Formats: sequence, C-alpha cells, structure tokens
Amino acid sequence: MLEIKNLHAELEEGGKKILKGVNLTIETGKVHAIMGPNGSGKSTLSYVLSGRDGYAVTEGSATLDGENLLEQEPEERAAEGLFLAFQYPVEIPGVGNMTFLRTAVNAQRKARGEEEYSAGEFLKIVREKAKSLKIDAEMLKRPVNVGFSGGEKKRNEILQMAMLEPKMCILDETDSGLDVDAMKLVSDGVNALRSEGRSFLVITHYQRLLDHIKPDVVHIMAAGRIIKTGGPELALEVEKNGYSDLLKEHGISEV
Ligand code: ADP
Ligand code: MG
Ligand code: MG
Repeated sequence: MLEIKNLHAELEEGGKKILKGVNLTIETGKVHAIMGPNGSGKSTLSYVLSGRDGYAVTEGSATLDGENLLEQEPEERAAEGLFLAFQYPVEIPGVGNMTFLRTAVNAQRKARGEEEYSAGEFLKIVREKAKSLKIDAEMLKRPVNVGFSGGEKKRNEILQMAMLEPKMCILDETDSGLDVDAMKLVSDGVNALRSEGRSFLVITHYQRLLDHIKPDVVHIMAAGRIIKTGGPELALEVEKNGYSDLLKEHGISEV
C-alpha cells in the first residue's frame, strides 16, 4: 500500500512550492488515476515519489508497505518495488536492449538479496514475458530506444515494467497525450499486468485513457493538492464540464 500524507515539496532551485499537502492512499491491487489541469503538480508528485533530483520535500510522508520512500535513494525505491514509467525514454546507442534490461533486473534482484539471472535464464524469462505481452522479441536485440517509434518505446516500457515486477507502478502520461495506437498499447499492457499484488497510479490529462484502463478510484489534483476523489464517473464529469467549477469551489484561482 502506498500512503502519502500531507506531502509538501518545492523546487530546490528557487524554492517554488509545488506540492502543497498531498494526501493519497492506494491500496494494494488497486488502480488509481490522477487528473488535473496542466501545472497542478501531477508530474512533480511522480518525481518526488521516485526520488528525482531537484525537488525538496519540506513536510509530510510517503511510504510503500510501511517503508519510508523519501529516505531512500531512487535505486532503493526501485528495489522496493516502485516503478515510474514514461519519464526516461532515453536512447542508449551501443547498448543492446536485452543487456540493458538484464542489468536493470539484476541490479534490482541484487538490491533485494536475490540471485542474479544468468544470460540464459534471463533470455528465457524475457522471451516469455514479451510473448505474453505480444511484443516482438526482435526489438530486444536493438540498441535501447535508438530509432524506436513512439509506439515501440511504449512497448519497451511495458516490457521493462513486466520484467521488474513492481508492486507500485506510476505512469505519467505526457501532456501531449498518447495517440490512439499508443494508448491501446499502454492500456493493454497495464491491463495484462494488473494483479492483486500490484497497484497503479495513472496520471493523465485525458479521460479517454481511462476508458481502456478502468480505474478503481479517480482523483483530481489542482494547485498541488488532491481536491476531489471519486469513482470512474469523476473522470467523465471533468471531461464534460472541465475543471473551472471545481477550482472555484475550492477557491483556487490559478494552478
Ligand atoms: P503537471 O504535471 O500537473 O502539469 P508539473 O508537476 O509538471 O505539473 O508542474 C507543476 C508546476 O511546477 C508548474 O507550474 C511547473 O511549471 C512548475 N515546475 C515543475 N518543475 C519545474 C522545474 N524544474 N523548473 C521550474 N518550474 C517547474
Ligand atoms: Mg504539465
Ligand atoms: Mg505532467
């Protein structure tokens, strides 16, 4: 279970306050979505949880199954089972995708005190996973993300997610949104990886992603806080009516 209490965070440089008391509990096995106007702090929340440089937590807490995430290095958080998708679609020329994946998975296993996979073992597992996600194993041989189409990058992220077997997956969609094909890919991947022991936090600007990934709970974030929580119908509501009434209700003039 992910438990965020009264989380406040600001930019290290300049001190701009972005998160202003986020409260959010995601029970194991649940899919939560966060929507909200541009600039409300959605991406910052995912960065702060994953431990990205440049943000200072000034108040509050965030725990994953009781472990204090905020005290841990990003690698420790990953070993703890936190996965942040779609933020680093880096190209790594000269490094084969398979090598990259095996390094990531073995680093995580090592941090957990588990035995590393041999090349042979890893190959078998990655092929099985790729097959179950309908991912062409051919892309495993190519350098990481080099020349990958947008859809292939997404596919690769889903494969990374499947291989790392996280217990908490955070997906932060970019503001430009996903095209229809990429959206289908991402949602099929997420749906295939949904399980009792795994939770998701899906951050999206658009309701339509949530037609494919049916969330259990929907939150609206504005001005650095969660201002409303509801079921899937809340996403439809804001899609239809926009955010302005909600913002007014909460006395928020700008985000
Ligand atoms: P969202 O993902 O909801 O669109 P963000 O978390 O990206 O919101 O941004 C929240 C606010 O913080 C915005 O006003 C954004 O401009 C600002 N912000 C976030 N990161 C930085 C940064 N590194 N430098 C300057 N401003 C930033
Ligand atoms: Mg934004
Ligand atoms: Mg964002």
